[in-house]
Amino acid sequence: MATTADAVVVGAGVLGCATAFELARAGHRVVVVERQGGPGHGSTGASSAIVRFNYSTAAGVAMSWEAKHCWENWTDHLGVLDTPAVACLHRTGVALLDVDAVPKPSMLALLDEAGVPYEEWDPATLATQVPSIDTGRFGPPKRLDDDAFWAQADGRLGAVFTPDAGFVDDPMLAAVNLADAARRRGVEFLFHREVVAVRHRGGRVAGLDLADGGRIDCPIVVNVAGPWSSMLNTLAGVGDDFTIAVRPMRQEVHHVSAPPGYNNGAVFGPCVADLDLGVYVRATPGDGMLIGGTEPDCDPLQWLDDPNQANPNPTPHMFETQVVRAARRFPGLAVPSRPRGIAGVYDVAEDWTPIYDRTALDGFYVAMGTSGNQFKNAPIVGRVMAEIIGAVEAGRDHDADPVCLVGAHTGLEIDLGAFSRKRGRNENSSMSVMG
Ligand SMILES: Cc1cc2nc3c(=O)[nH]c(=O)nc-3n(C[C@H](O)[C@H](O)[C@H](O)COP(=O)(O)OP(=O)(O)OC[C@H]3O[C@@H](n4cnc5c(N)ncnc54)[C@H](O)[C@@H]3O)c2cc1C
Repeated sequence: MATTADAVVVGAGVLGCATAFELARAGHRVVVVERQGGPGHGSTGASSAIVRFNYSTAAGVAMSWEAKHCWENWTDHLGVLDTPAVACLHRTGVALLDVDAVPKPSMLALLDEAGVPYEEWDPATLATQVPSIDTGRFGPPKRLDDDAFWAQADGRLGAVFTPDAGFVDDPMLAAVNLADAARRRGVEFLFHREVVAVRHRGGRVAGLDLADGGRIDCPIVVNVAGPWSSMLNTLAGVGDDFTIAVRPMRQEVHHVSAPPGYNNGAVFGPCVADLDLGVYVRATPGDGMLIGGTEPDCDPLQWLDDPNQANPNPTPHMFETQVVRAARRFPGLAVPSRPRGIAGVYDVAEDWTPIYDRTALDGFYVAMGTSGNQFKNAPIVGRVMAEIIGAVEAGRDHDADPVCLVGAHTGLEIDLGAFSRKRGRNENSSMSVMG
């Protein structure tokens, strides 16, 4: 016998759980289908979970600023007080080093527009505020086998510091928290179940078939399948009218001991976004440091045809590359000989900006192309999807007249047309994980 639901969310990552939660809050009977055994086992589990506000669009900045208020009031957001473990936002601040790839005037104008506080640090201030840092300008990023990588700095860098930024300590727990909150609202989770077909009737989605022979009949499906989202679109027969291509990309994140002085006892050091050397760093509990990459032009990108084929382990080459780059910025950082860290997969849109939208198939919606930068926005993406679905199902032409979301915490108006599948390519994007 088929299960029935008002709406099915495919994928129990942080965005899928947030979407299910908000759809249930809007009164829908929701089922979540997830191939893995629990929430957050896709991109979410590998996420660095940095919460920052530097994006290249007004909508992106406004969303991240609104979402930060949700993380700060996480149990209120979930609507529960009795959860034994909750994810926690650590307010460390983010220092974005000055680089041409992220033009400062436009970035500051967007922060001003959204009311995001920031400080402009000159090199001397950067050195004082991040004690173990070398403020040298080394860029553009280079490969380690390029002699120029080892050249002296040719100047000094300042930074834009956003004090309210930081990181969420446990991205998988954040997804679990959202899933638990969704369950309390009546959402049913089907784990170890995989969607293998999307049924249509008369130009509208009619249901899903599962690998084990199960069926779900439903008029609404939301594709929140992370790096597998394009495969699900293919099953649904949608994508022809997308102007933005989306592809999975493998990424490594490495863990090392923090350089002396970066963390101050129990006080975490600030996150540093360093497009000058091609890395970002943040603290981890236990006086550690996490190091990720910012897709510098000198590194080949690891595009994947099938995300299931991604090697989940860090490789010696990428470990050495990223940790040595970070060690130029933090000279006290020791470079271990054995790689430690994880590899995850981004779902990269060609302009590194996500797609939150309907599709040409009525009832089939997408929250995809999250480009390695949407963990932080999860609490708002749930609302975004619920608003778009509510409006479109009520007859609104979201393509011609995009829905606008008003942030409950900030009052900011967020034009959701910025995330359209049919938008012009965002030419202001840094074309990297920074968005
Ligand atoms: C290494 C790395 C570092 C990152 N760092 C940051 C950061 O610092 N800050 C930030 O904001 N963002 C960051 N991100 C991005 C962020 O983690 C993602 O944008 C976010 O987790 C995407 O969540 P999701 O729910 O859309 O996808 P996922 O977490 O990938 O979930 C999708 C789920 O769908 C399931 N699924 C797929 N197909 C099917 C099917 N056919 N049937 C059933 N289930 C299916 C999968 O099993 C998976 O669990 C990072 C990502 C990575 C990989």
